[in-house]
Order: sequence, then structure tokens, then C-alpha cells
Amino acid sequence: MCPRCYRMVHRARSRCDGCGAGLTAKGRAAAVAERQAVLQADCDAFNRRHSVGDTIRVWTGPREGEPIERVTKGPAYILGGHTAVVYVSGGGGCIALSHVESHEQI
Ligand SMILES: [Zn+2]
Repeated sequence: MCPRCYRMVHRARSRCDGCGAGLTAKGRAAAVAERQAVLQADCDAFNRRHSVGDTIRVWTGPREGEPIERVTKGPAYILGGHTAVVYVSGGGGCIALSHVESHEQI
């Protein structure tokens, strides 16, 4: 059974057919690689649209209310292997791309 979505999965499968969770070491490595590729594509999409020094509108907390303006200090990158972020000056530190107004999640 898949520990993430509780779907019944054949014992021999390395990945869950439903949610893609890795069920063996090999499957988990593949799931991580897939996630990294998605995050990298997200960074690339942001970096194609924005240059370092651009003013962007972001939320430093929950994505609600009016976003605030911040200036990017570098290109977007994957922080800690799990979150696509961009560093900004003026407070807020690194902002998840999910909290950048102009950024459409892929
Ligand atoms: Zn699953």
C-alpha cells in the first residue's frame, strides 16, 4: 500500500501509480529527481522573465492582501532541495516563487 495516498500498489512497483511516491530506494530517488526537475523548470521560467535587479511584487507571509514591492538580488534557485525561491532586498530574505505575483506556477 502506498504510504502517501493509501492506494493499493503491486509489491513489485517502485513507484505508486496514483501519486508517484517512491516505494523503494530506487523509486524514491526517481521521485526526488522528478521533483527537482519540476523545481528547476519553475526557476528557469522565473529567470527567463526576470533579471537580477528587477522589481517584483511578493507576499512575505500568506498569499493574501496586497503584495509588496521587492528587488531581486539574484536568480531564482532551489533552496534546500525542496523550494524554488528568489532572494530579494528590502526585507523578506528569500521568497518562495509561489509568493511572487507575476510568477505563474507550472
Ligand atoms: Zn500513492
